[in-house]
Amino acid sequence: ATPTAIMAATGVGARRGVLVRDINQLHLLQRAGTIAFDKTGTLTVGTPQVQNLENWSATPALLALVKQAQQQSQHPLARAMVESLKDADASSDEMTFENVSGRGVIASTLQHRLIIGNQRLFSEQGLTLEPPHFEHLAGDATPVWVAMDDQLMARFDISDAIRAESAGLIQWLKQRNWAIWLLTGDRKSVADSVQQTLALDHQMAELLPEHKSQAVIQLQKKASPVVMVGDGINDAPALAQADVSIAMGSGADVAMETAGITLMRPDINLVAEAIQIAQKTQQKIY
Ligand code: ADP
Ligand code: MG
Repeated sequence: ATPTAIMAATGVGARRGVLVRDINQLHLLQRAGTIAFDKTGTLTVGTPQVQNLENWSATPALLALVKQAQQQSQHPLARAMVESLKDADASSDEMTFENVSGRGVIASTLQHRLIIGNQRLFSEQGLTLEPPHFEHLAGDATPVWVAMDDQLMARFDISDAIRAESAGLIQWLKQRNWAIWLLTGDRKSVADSVQQTLALDHQMAELLPEHKSQAVIQLQKKASPVVMVGDGINDAPALAQADVSIAMGSGADVAMETAGITLMRPDINLVAEAIQIAQKTQQKIY
């Protein structure tokens, strides 16, 4: 494409809500046939809600500590838990807080140690989840278990609605023979449910943030260029690895700083817009 075509394309893009920071990626986007999507905040709305609380022995004082701990996390699941605990007591105990990437959080007060997170976190902490701890758990929900002093106290079941526009975009891509992948840190059954709803061909679940970028490398070995669409802090390494990186403008700053292309509205259809802009730039339609 000529420099004028590129300038015109970036101008058209910006007016339509597609901000192109790296023009080389427009060329690669025009040639790409593989696209990987993050789930939370990308194919889903990203504001998950607590659907169910299994309370085995959590007291109001414990729930106050859970709220205090999760207020210190930026994770969408943490925000969902804080929202569901908005009427719970407030606690201002002295607390140390550790974010365990891809797993959850560990918080300690002078008296207690809280473990809040997924099964991986619990097994790494030497705690075994027993069958009762899985009771009433819906397949499309993400469970967050809470232990205090190594005792299982409660489980928050959280789910996130799929974006209304996601199905249409996936269909549009399928009609154009794109290979479409879902890459998520969430558990397998949630990935299965999104995969089924959107009729996605491929998925990889329970990926740690560092494994998302390895997944992109695997896809690049199959066929490159590879496009990655994501929004979270945990997507930044995968965005950096991809040949074309598209960030949701509603997402984390680091995702936008890493990506070559940013969608300025939380409208996943802008991915199709970006692809069309890339094609027209190459055909010198602008
Ligand atoms: P993704 O955005 O693809 O779901 P993440 O790496 O951000 O991936 O999270 C993976 C998993 O780690 C979550 O599904 C959840 O089980 C757990 N997790 C991460 N942070 C938290 C947190 N603050 N509170 C509870 N669980 C968390
Ligand atoms: Mg995300």
